[in-house]
Amino acid sequence: MKKPKNKKNGFLNSGGSRSMILLMLLLTGGLMILHWFTDYARQIKSVPYTTFLKMVESDQVKQVYASEQDVRGVLVDGSRFETVVPNNPNDWEILKKHNVEINVASTTGQVSFWHIFLLGSLLLLLIAGWYFVRQSRGSSGNGGAGNIFSMGKSRAKMFMPSTIKENFDSVAGAAEAKEELKDVVDFLKNPEKYRRLGAKITRGLLLVGEPGNGKTLLAKAVAGEANCPFFSISGSDFIEVFVGVGAARVRDLFQQARKYAPSIVFIDEIDAVGRHRGSGLGGGHDEREQTLNQLLTEMDGFLTTGGSVIVMAATNRPDVLDKALLRPGRFDRHVEVPYPDLVSREQILKLHAKGVKIDAEVDMQKIARGTPGFSGADLANLINEAAIIASKSSQQMVTTADFEEARDKVLLGKERKSVVLSEQERTITAFHESGHALINVLLPEQTDPLHKVSIIPRGRALGVTHSLPEKEKYTRTQDEMLASIAIYLGGRAAEELVFNKVTTGAYSDFKAATEMARSMVCDYGMSADLGPVVYSQRSGDYNYSQKTAEKIDNEVQKLVHMAHQKAIDLLQQNRDKLDLLANKLLEKETLYAAEVYELLGVTPRQDHRFA
Ligand code: ADP
Ligand code: ZN
Repeated sequence: MKKPKNKKNGFLNSGGSRSMILLMLLLTGGLMILHWFTDYARQIKSVPYTTFLKMVESDQVKQVYASEQDVRGVLVDGSRFETVVPNNPNDWEILKKHNVEINVASTTGQVSFWHIFLLGSLLLLLIAGWYFVRQSRGSSGNGGAGNIFSMGKSRAKMFMPSTIKENFDSVAGAAEAKEELKDVVDFLKNPEKYRRLGAKITRGLLLVGEPGNGKTLLAKAVAGEANCPFFSISGSDFIEVFVGVGAARVRDLFQQARKYAPSIVFIDEIDAVGRHRGSGLGGGHDEREQTLNQLLTEMDGFLTTGGSVIVMAATNRPDVLDKALLRPGRFDRHVEVPYPDLVSREQILKLHAKGVKIDAEVDMQKIARGTPGFSGADLANLINEAAIIASKSSQQMVTTADFEEARDKVLLGKERKSVVLSEQERTITAFHESGHALINVLLPEQTDPLHKVSIIPRGRALGVTHSLPEKEKYTRTQDEMLASIAIYLGGRAAEELVFNKVTTGAYSDFKAATEMARSMVCDYGMSADLGPVVYSQRSGDYNYSQKTAEKIDNEVQKLVHMAHQKAIDLLQQNRDKLDLLANKLLEKETLYAAEVYELLGVTPRQDHRFA
């Protein structure tokens, strides 16, 4: 996110005054050119028509440029003149007789040479001016601008510890992320403590989460807690049209960061540089790859040069990142910064409500309830919008009604980038996710332990049930695969059971279930009918007949139906647990595996204990 705030803080930009001088020079140059042209214009003498004729007759005129009645010309001695002639073709005869070179321009859009030049230079000046304004707005805060000379400078904003107001108290909720970042703070505070014993400390952390959930805030809070300088830059700031500039900027940034170590480098939108190599479309990707390589080099350099620089990078697309970025010693630690759950939302609301006059009747918990899928930034925005609405009607306090109006406004602004659930959808989602989760914890064959279940919408998904793959698992039994299919289908099964109707929300579940069933039949020989034969249809090449294809479809259907029935049965037998889990989810929105087991009074399988 672009944040115009904090403009006044300690910026590091040596290009500032130099660029001002450059700007002045350019302006002066431009004015001189203009002046010269006005002089040039003045040298053109306006002469009456009769004089013009006389000059022609005395062979003084070398050439003319004519467009309709306007005639401009050059004399033999080089001086210029202009005149207006009547529409009289006879003139041309006279001109010809006196060997004057005649140039006739078309009448429409007739623009003189110096007009073009004037316009051109004005345009150049405008572009230069615009460039400087943009530069100074985009990067530096001290009024300085311009990067023609300082192109390789990093453009990072630097915040000295004294200017950093954020600390962990500025971040509401996000308990898990904060917990994970405490180590980093400790390391930055006492790097020696770690180095003494030769401990290898993570140098790179990837903050993963949708925009507005506080990744930047968290990174800065770490700097605030550790009382160390904070360098902030966006991945897209590295990329310029000129190859090599990005890499130079990375080098410069890390040079600075090392100079001020211990320090933090924060790279927002790392995917702008970090997309896996060779994936660039069209031009400019050489530049990106060079930049990425430089970043990797710098991070590897930490190991040898030692300076305590922690690099934090933010993204909501960890999946597109170049694998090289995620290797040990680079961004090998991921910190999730998810959409806030109910409790976090209330805390964020309360934090941002400080300093706003809010009526005592406003129930923040209720507002938190009505804003699932809101990011931290959305919630901050909600408070602000409510305050604006209240101010407009000259109220003394912000009331519940203002919050309701503000909520609609913020919702509109979100343009359904992510889903916001209605109360009914929320309930259905709670049962759907509970269906997945319950089957996961009840089926003894299940191999991937439950991790968490959540009804906080994420992107376009209404809810999620995560399970963690069990250790390193290379083979799976038929029962295990059937169990997985049952878990995929558990969501829909719960909907059928509880609401007696179905929604469209299970498409990806079905897809996953079907794919697994198909691979059981076609790849692993796990069907009674078709036996241990691999039926492949790679790139449209089938190694089986139409008849076999029908059999495969049948077998797949059978497996899916079997798993579906299993899911229905299991949920029916444990309806009390399903209701319990769904209601708890509606209340808390996210439950971790341990909480689920405790709530349901189920003992996890031996090997699932520490999931
Ligand atoms: P990101 O970097 O993930 O896009 P930001 O850190 O820029 O998100 O968050 C934008 C703003 O949203 C913050 O400046 C803050 O006002 C608000 N915000 C987000 N998350 C929180 C939170 N957990 N607690 C308090 N405010 C938050
Ligand atoms: Zn589902």
